[in-house]
Amino acid sequence: MSVFSNPAFDKHELVSFHSDEKSGLRAIIAVHNTTLGPGVGGCRMYPYASDADALHDVLRLSRGMTYKSALAGLPLGGGKSVIIGDPHTQKSRALMEAMGDFVNSQSGRYVAAEDSGTGVTDIRTMAGRTPYVSGLEDNEHGGDPSPSTALGVYLGMRTAAKHRLGVGSLSGLSVAIQGLGHVGFYLARYLVADGATVYGADVNRANLEKAVKELGVKAVGVSEILSMEVDILAPCAMGAVLNDESIPCIRAGIVAGAANNQLATVDDGLNLEGRGILYCPDFLINAGGIIDVHHQRTGSGEDVKREHIERIEITLAEVLRRADENHGQTQLIAESLAEEYLHRVSQRLTPLKEAC
Ligand code: NAD
Repeated sequence: MSVFSNPAFDKHELVSFHSDEKSGLRAIIAVHNTTLGPGVGGCRMYPYASDADALHDVLRLSRGMTYKSALAGLPLGGGKSVIIGDPHTQKSRALMEAMGDFVNSQSGRYVAAEDSGTGVTDIRTMAGRTPYVSGLEDNEHGGDPSPSTALGVYLGMRTAAKHRLGVGSLSGLSVAIQGLGHVGFYLARYLVADGATVYGADVNRANLEKAVKELGVKAVGVSEILSMEVDILAPCAMGAVLNDESIPCIRAGIVAGAANNQLATVDDGLNLEGRGILYCPDFLINAGGIIDVHHQRTGSGEDVKREHIERIEITLAEVLRRADENHGQTQLIAESLAEEYLHRVSQRLTPLKEAC
């Protein structure tokens, strides 16, 4: 398993591996870039098929966090951690405490938050062993940043619809959501409130039924959701869903979802563009969660947080404008905008206020 030659390594500042025999913990912490601040990012627990898969995932996610925080104008760097294991059968208090010790050993270069496979309870357990955690604070959602993530994705959809279809709201449009978990459910709520017709699919029956019953989401099979003839497709389940197999079948004109690393490879961005599909970069429009985590840490009010999340619309509009102007891929343009911003900060130049 190579580390430095992994395509996702991309100048990571730190990659740390740890195992704890007593609790069964096997985990990796990756910190991509701390130019803007400590590497803040979720702690994911997943039954990876191999150590190499876990490494590749944590590197891609951590790099994505650098771009996400930079584009959101946050004083935070990019980091992420993964625990190798099944959260349903292998999670224990001792395991999360051992993870807390591991996070603590990085002396604050990495700050953990919740992610797939971990929740506020796990973060609270880790907090017993380290101050370097975030997302514990009691707000109306108990510290869960998912509603803010959903808000950012919804605003991103609105910006994309305005850009592509010339409409000011999503009323009358159709949206297909893959994954009605924490973010997907709140996203469906925003969309229904705006008058959109929402289709949803989930491998978890209870999550699907909740969205159908409480929000009137129209249930669709998991194998059909990506190829539905809708205005907008919203991947809100897992990464790499936009790939060689799925892209030729997509019939939506816009893809805008919460899942991290939706494009399986760089070429998939090109393939979407080649099919005339407008792709909203995931790390740009799903930044509501990290913005929420930041404002939980600083104790700012709801208004300040909301205003900050609303800036996602301005940044996305700028990316779409540049993409049109340069006939470029939205994903690459968003990455270069973030890199430009990081460069200016590291060189102590004036940040690009109009864009970030
Ligand atoms: P979640 O685990 O609560 O929800 C994911 C849902 O997707 C679950 O209901 C799961 O059953 C479903 N699912 C899994 N595989 C599926 C498939 N093949 N087809 C249909 N449904 C499937 O996770 P979440 O917190 O809602 O996050 C969703 C995505 O957004 C993840 O990729 C996460 O990394 C990303 N994200 C989340 C946040 C946040 O604030 N929670 C922030 C940024 C990015």
